[in-house]
Amino acid sequence: MKKHNFSAGPCILPQEVLQKASEAILNFNDDDLSLIEISHRSKPFVAVMEKARNLALELLGLENKGYQAIFLHGGASMEFLMVAYNLLNKKAAYLNTGTWSDKAIKEAKEFGEVVEVGSSKDKGYNYIPKGYSIPEDADYFHCTSNNTVAGTQIKSFPETNVPLICDMSSDIFSRQLDFEKFDLIYAGAQKNMGPAGTTLVIIKEEILGKVERHIPSMLNYQVHIKSDSMYNTPSVFAVYVSMLTLQWLKDLGGIPFIEKVNNKKAELLYTEIDRNPLFKGIVAKEDRSNMNATFVLTDESLTEKFDKMCAAAGINGLNGHRSVGGYRASMYNALPLYSVQVLVDVMKALK
Ligand code: PMP
Repeated sequence: MKKHNFSAGPCILPQEVLQKASEAILNFNDDDLSLIEISHRSKPFVAVMEKARNLALELLGLENKGYQAIFLHGGASMEFLMVAYNLLNKKAAYLNTGTWSDKAIKEAKEFGEVVEVGSSKDKGYNYIPKGYSIPEDADYFHCTSNNTVAGTQIKSFPETNVPLICDMSSDIFSRQLDFEKFDLIYAGAQKNMGPAGTTLVIIKEEILGKVERHIPSMLNYQVHIKSDSMYNTPSVFAVYVSMLTLQWLKDLGGIPFIEKVNNKKAELLYTEIDRNPLFKGIVAKEDRSNMNATFVLTDESLTEKFDKMCAAAGINGLNGHRSVGGYRASMYNALPLYSVQVLVDVMKALK
């Protein structure tokens, strides 16, 4: 029996995906060779890359709409840099909703003026700023859809005429959004998609090619698009597992299906957090994340007992981010509703 894995990332992946991935390590495609010992230019791997890119666009409803999907290296953190390198001429607008937005802002400042249109830093990022305005002359607006550390999630995205760029690392493929509103979406694989080691970037091609600076090849989105995400050796294993996970999601019924499951999981846990006087949520209710639920014990002396009960129930990865403490239950796509029920039962049994 596997553990109930609430880890924030790298995190739980579907069991059947892990099974198929482990088979491919020994014998991929029935060729008596491992996935990780064949050329990335070989026919079978080129087919994997193509399928992964197509599935990503298909699941988001962005096929044949001027978007490209590429798999890059360097984590979502590399995209903090690449977004600015490729798109920032003079001025960019950023919404600061957490640790990761803050890091994205830091990188963008290397390339031009950054207008922080709103920030929740003053309150430990425990809410999503609202009612901010985006300068019309900004090269783009950047936001983080789900704040993995604080446990907040943007429920409604602004209407703006400037390109909309979003770090969706921790909630991509988890809920239905009007993805056509976005001009560039990026996400590290290691939450809802696959193992660490690759980053999915979805780009509306028409926004590229508008900065004056020279962009080094490896940091240039156009270079990666032109070479079909094979400019250099891709993270073959991470891309393969991402492809399997995206296929798993498609077979289940895609984002509309998984969103319903995710809503049920979040409702189950937040209902208990609000009902049980021994627990308290730490972010504004209307901004609560359906992926990462953060909470604390109201009586800290129960910490050891609760931790032991969780461990005995096979619950893993419930500790909050090292910068905030408390607890964080990450409920990504592959986490079954049953695991949340086990956690809720432990919370109910705590006295
Ligand atoms: N953005 C968000 C929302 C994240 O949760 C993370 C990592 N947890 C990052 C960016 C950074 O990702 P990476 O470690 O892949 O660079």
